Amino acid sequence: MSIEYHVLGLPGRDNALFVRLHTGQATHRFLFDSGQGCVDTLGRAEIQAIDHLFFSHFHIDHISGFDAFFRTTYHRTSQPNVIWGPPEATEVLHARFRGFTWNLQEGMTVHWHIHAIHPDSIERSYADLADGFTQLHLNRTLPFEGTLLDEPAFSIEAVHLDHGIVSIGYVVREKPRVNVDTEALASLGLEPGPWLQIIKRPAAPHEPPLAMGGRIFDANDLRQRLLQETPGESIAYLSDLLMTDELRGRLAERMRGCTTLVCEATYRRDDTGLAERNFHLTSKQAAELARDAGVGHLVLIHLSDRYKPDEWLALLQEVREVFPAASYPEHWNIAAGDAIP
Ligand SMILES: [Zn+2]
Ligand SMILES: [Zn+2]
Repeated sequence: MSIEYHVLGLPGRDNALFVRLHTGQATHRFLFDSGQGCVDTLGRAEIQAIDHLFFSHFHIDHISGFDAFFRTTYHRTSQPNVIWGPPEATEVLHARFRGFTWNLQEGMTVHWHIHAIHPDSIERSYADLADGFTQLHLNRTLPFEGTLLDEPAFSIEAVHLDHGIVSIGYVVREKPRVNVDTEALASLGLEPGPWLQIIKRPAAPHEPPLAMGGRIFDANDLRQRLLQETPGESIAYLSDLLMTDELRGRLAERMRGCTTLVCEATYRRDDTGLAERNFHLTSKQAAELARDAGVGHLVLIHLSDRYKPDEWLALLQEVREVFPAASYPEHWNIAAGDAIP
């Protein structure tokens, strides 16, 4: 299992995050936001295989590249079409679907599911290509307590942020991996076999004992002796938000120990007035969050276009003074060791 990620877009331009999660049996693809020119950098087959599209919010720099995604997937029947976003997702996306003429697709049933994430509930609806997306079908309201998807191999969580409007942050987590300690297995004189699948399952009441090699074993006892649990990888995506001390504490708890945090750092350290006025983070605020959450690595995105390229490195160094394990996306080619021009 592993998580692979690519920040899309360039410094000072629109950005998005593309994540591939490999479970060993399957690869899941997630896209977070779709600013101008972001989706186009992915191959057609890759776009067609995106399982879920998540929007943080609908400012134009986060949705202006949506058509490049929809152009490739609008008639997709190979898998469910699922989009998530803030409370206005239903209205915004339904309008977006209807922003084209669809007379040639009459009768082609392709459902597009929209999930609007409210503070305590998720409102689920869908529209259908067959009627040119004219009708919006509200199917149901689900309870929301922080988790959007809870699959056997991974989970996806959402957190509400203040960006003047609601913005949603996301966390993708692999489930812990359970491995068999081969040395412990040998020391018990046991051979691997299908019985290992039994002890890899969670304990159940009244489990029958396991008989092997003329000996009787308690399944729970074998679990404790043989199983090793290693935490899965995780990646968080935060863009865009205003920081407060209260929120930093709350986010640090939610992002605790994340392998990677991909986070906006729109403004430089001293431009706090601009950051507050526009509901964004400064470099220092992004760094303090990464430090307090104890993440493995911080990747900075969403730089303001007010800064010239010679300030990008200075902004990165402001971050690294607080949280050294920080960088820009690799393809930006702005390395931390570079001298400030
Ligand atoms: Zn925004
Ligand atoms: Zn933005």
